[in-house]
Amino acid sequence: MRVAQLGSGTPEIAVVAGVHGDEPCGVRAVERLLDERPAVKRPVKLVVANEKALERRVRFIDEDLNRTFPGEPNAKTHEGQLAHDLVSELEGCLTFSMHSTQSHADPFAIVNGVSETAKAIVPQLPVTAMVETSNFAEGRLFSTVDTVEVECGLQGSETAAENADRLTRAFLTAVDALPGDTVRRDLPVYRLTDVIDKEQADTYEVFVDNFTEVEAGAPFAAADGQKQIADESFYPVLMSPNGYRNVFGYTAEKVDVIESPPAAD
Ligand SMILES: [Zn+2]
Repeated sequence: MRVAQLGSGTPEIAVVAGVHGDEPCGVRAVERLLDERPAVKRPVKLVVANEKALERRVRFIDEDLNRTFPGEPNAKTHEGQLAHDLVSELEGCLTFSMHSTQSHADPFAIVNGVSETAKAIVPQLPVTAMVETSNFAEGRLFSTVDTVEVECGLQGSETAAENADRLTRAFLTAVDALPGDTVRRDLPVYRLTDVIDKEQADTYEVFVDNFTEVEAGAPFAAADGQKQIADESFYPVLMSPNGYRNVFGYTAEKVDVIESPPAAD
C-alpha cells in the first residue's frame, strides 16, 4: 500500500485507488495529483491500495479486497491483512474510492445507503446515477469506512482514466479541498434488490442496457443460448456477460431522483 498526502495536518478526506489490481484508472488519477501537487485548502490523504495485485494486473492476490473488510492483522491472506491496514489508514476520513467495470462506460456512484453526505456530494460529481447497495454491503470498504465509491468506466480504457481524474477533482472540490465550483445535476437513485445468477456455460450474452428498465417477460441474458426471462420488471446494474465469474450482475429498483435547485442566474 502506498500512502501520500497533499497539504499539511491530519486529513479528514482520502482518495483511494487500486482496491482492485486490474483497475488502473484511479491509480492514474492519484499519480497525476502527486505530479501536479495542487494547492489544497484541506489536507488530503492519497492511497494506492493493492500494489501487489496492480503489479501483476490481477483483481486480487488471494481474495477480493472489496469483500474482505474489515480484515484482521493476522489474516492468512494478503487482502485480509491489507483490509485491516487500509481501515487503520482511513480512520476518520471521508473516503473516495475509484473502480472500473466491464459493464458500463458512463461513470456512476455506489453508496452504502443514501446518507446526508451522499446526497450532498454525489450530485456534484460527473456521474449519471447513484446506486445504493446496502443489501450487498458485506465485506465492502464502505461497510467499515464512510466511503463514496465511483465506477469510472470500462476497465483499462483511456476514457476511464480521464473520468477518474475528473471525478477526483469534482470530489475534492465538493468537499472544499480544491478551490472552485462544481456543477450540480439531477441524479436518479437505484437500490440493488437481487443478484442475477449465471449458470456454468461456455458463452454468455446480455441483451439489455444497464439503468434501462427491463419489462416483465423480456429476455435479458443467455447462457449457452438458454435465455433468461424477467419475472418482473427491473433495472439492470453492473450487468455484463463476463464481468463476474458467477453472476451476470444485479437487479435494481429506481427509488428516487435527487433534484438540484436551478441555478440562481
Ligand atoms: Zn473494482
